[in-house]
Parts: sequence; structure tokens; C-alpha cells
Amino acid sequence: MKRVPLKGLSFDELQSFAESMGEKRFRGAQLYAWLYAKGAQTFDEMTDISREFRAILQQSAHLGNLEVVNTSRSFSDATTKYLFRLEDGAAVESVLIPPEKKSPGADRRLTLCVSTQVGCPLDCKFCATGTMGFSRDLTAGEIVDQVLQAQRLSQRRITNLVYMGMGEPMLNYDEVMKSIDILTDDRALNIGTRHITVSTAGYADRIRRMADENRKVKLALSLHTLDNEKRTGIMPITKKFPVPELLEALAYYYHRVRRRPTLEYILFDGFNDTDEDLRRLIAVSKRFPMKVNLIPFHSIAFTHLAGIGAQLRPTPRERIESFAAALRTANITVMVRNSSGQDINAACGQLALSTP
Ligand code: SAH
Repeated sequence: MKRVPLKGLSFDELQSFAESMGEKRFRGAQLYAWLYAKGAQTFDEMTDISREFRAILQQSAHLGNLEVVNTSRSFSDATTKYLFRLEDGAAVESVLIPPEKKSPGADRRLTLCVSTQVGCPLDCKFCATGTMGFSRDLTAGEIVDQVLQAQRLSQRRITNLVYMGMGEPMLNYDEVMKSIDILTDDRALNIGTRHITVSTAGYADRIRRMADENRKVKLALSLHTLDNEKRTGIMPITKKFPVPELLEALAYYYHRVRRRPTLEYILFDGFNDTDEDLRRLIAVSKRFPMKVNLIPFHSIAFTHLAGIGAQLRPTPRERIESFAAALRTANITVMVRNSSGQDINAACGQLALSTP
């Protein structure tokens, strides 16, 4: 008999599972607390569960722990990248990102960037994960366990999550949302919904669905340029959901959920960082309130790119600063993302399993 992986089951599912094993439903609630609140790694730790039931669990279930096969630490900052092996041998990475020292509340905040798929089918021309192709979706349990394992390994509580690792979260919508339900549950990991950001390359239909479901997590769109033709060149998904449709979906999201979406914008030298690009970005902010997150382009030359990806260059630092300043003058909230973990290929877009 195939043993059932327990991580990833909801409160109700675990109660039904306990019942199906001839136990009282509340045993499921105990399992839920052990898995997600106390981070148990073995059944033996579950001391308030009878020895007999634990023995039965050993036979019929397993926790579904990810196996940590590598940990790399940045030399220049405290970024840590974990490489996890999944049950079927596939692997994904997660990145622990310490806050910038000077930011308020920095000592209490710790962010984990989680993966949602093994590889990614979208083929964005600037992204290392895209060069791997797509293998499969992660289960909710595999997403949640990235957080549990990172907490165990770092011995620290993760307070913030970004769904910005490998994969496109919106293509794995159900498992991603299930993982969020577990991660935010106060009987489980109790991470604040406002401290979770889901980032998408641009699935307008799923953005609308999130709005209709009134999901309280933060939403980020990897926009990168407002020019539909240019965007199609670097992000083929634009053929399916063109820029105007994406902006409409964001406006819809804002009006339903009343949360400002974030527009992520990697700056590529001479490609999307001109005054005309600025003017267009500022014009969008007149349609609905938004935040802009400027991202320095991180080299993915280690993937040996060809085509347009090989031609993209990072915008010089001074231009990033003047671009940010111009947006601020137009009353737009702007953040320039820091590039922690570049020396271990752990910065945005660098996850590809090819390096340390
Ligand atoms: N598929 C989702 C989440 C993963 S990517 C999405 O596209 O949003 C997370 C962020 O990293 C996205 O904004 C993506 O555009 C950005 N990114 C990808 N490659 C990058 C690179 N080489 N340099 C900087 N940012 C990159």
C-alpha cells in the first residue's frame, strides 16, 4: 500500500483521515498541530498520540518531509539558498532573504521565497528557471514544507513569504491557494496574509479569480514593459494575455479587493528604461493605485542564453535611481529591490539548479 503524505492535508482532511483510520476526529487536529505548528519531523515526536496509533501511522502514512540536499550561504549578505529533493527525485530551491539592516522592524522580519513548480513552462527570456523547461506542479504539502524546513534549518520563524521562486503560481492555482490557507491558519504557521505576496507573469483570468475570491494576500505582476510587442518578445505569455488585458485585470482586482497591486519592473538598459517608458508607467498609475518594484537585472549568463535573452543588459545604477526618483515625484510608491544572494545565484530569476 502506498503511504499517504500528510503534509499538505487541511484541518478537515486530517480529521477525516484520522476517522478513516478508526480514530476520533480530534486526532486529526492533533496531527495538524504537530505538522504545521510544532514542525514535527517524525511520528515519534507526537507524544500525545498513542503508541498504537503512531505505529499504524508509520505503516499507512508518512510526513512528506522534503530532503535538504544543499545549503548555500552568500558571502556578501546573509541570503541562504536551500536545495530540496522531492519524493520523486525532482528538486526545487527556496531562498531565505534577510531584511536590509536599515529598514524598520528589520530584526523581526525574515522572508522566504518559495517555488511552486519544478521548472516553469513560460520561457521568459531573462529568467534562468525558464531555461529548465517544466516538469510538474508542486503539491500544497511541498510548498508548505519549504517553509517548515527553512524554519527548522535556520532556527528562526519565517514572517514573510514571496511566491517568487521557480514556477508560475497561477498555473498551480489550487495547490498554491491551499498552501496559503495552511500557512496563514493561526492553528498552523500563522503567517499574516498581508505578509504574503503572490507574483504572476500575467494570468489575467487568475488575477480576476483571486479578486472574486477576495484573497487577502498581496498581488504582484511581473510587468517589465508596457509595450505589448516588446513584452511579447521577452515574455511569450503576453500573446495569451496582452498588456491592456493585464491592466484591466489589475484595475478589477484593485476595485474588488481594495489593495494596491505591485508592478514588478526589471530594468533592461535601453530596452524599457527610457523617458517614454517612464511616462507610460506614470500614466498607468492614474488608472488605479499601485506600487512599483524596480528590479535590477541579474545576469543569467550561466545558462548560456541565446536570442534576445543574450542581448539584455542591466540598466546602470544611476539610471535605476533616477527612474525611481521620477516615479516618486509622480507620487508612486517605489521600491528598488535589493539583489541579495547574487554570488550564490539566489537573486530573482537565478534559480535553475545548475549552480551551488
Ligand atoms: N512566475 C512568477 C514568479 C517567479 S519570478 C512571475 O513571473 O512573477 C519572480 C520575479 O523575478 C519576477 O518578477 C521575474 O520577472 C523576476 N526575474 C526573473 N528573472 C530575473 C532576472 N534575471 N533578474 C531579475 N529579476 C528576474
